[in-house]
Amino acid sequence: MILKRLENNGIPELKLNELQLKMKQQVSEKVDGKTYKFEEVNCAICNSAKKELIGEKDRYGLYFPVNICGDCGLVYTSPRMTQSAYNEFYNIEYRKLYNGVEAARAVFF
Ligand SMILES: [Zn+2]
Repeated sequence: MILKRLENNGIPELKLNELQLKMKQQVSEKVDGKTYKFEEVNCAICNSAKKELIGEKDRYGLYFPVNICGDCGLVYTSPRMTQSAYNEFYNIEYRKLYNGVEAARAVFF
C-alpha cells in the first residue's frame, strides 16, 4: 500500500458527530457481516487488471480500497460495493453519514 496513513484501521480523518458515528458503525457492521457485498473490477478506462493499492479507508474510517491502474494511471475503487449494496447505502446511511443530520436541510434544496 502506497499511503500508510490510509491503512484500514477504522480511524476517521474527520471529527464525527454522534449520528455520523452511529452510521459509520452501521455501515462497518454491514461490510463485516457481508450484507454489503463487494466486487473486483478492472480499470474503467483501459480494462487492465494491473493495479497498485493506494489506500484502504475513506475520510470516515470506512473500508474503501483505492488503487492506481498499472497501465494508464486512473485512480479507482476496487473491490467496490455491488450495485445493490450501493443502493442500500445511499438510501439509508449516506446522507446521515455525510451531513451528520437526519434529513437534508432546506438550503440543500
Ligand atoms: Zn487503466
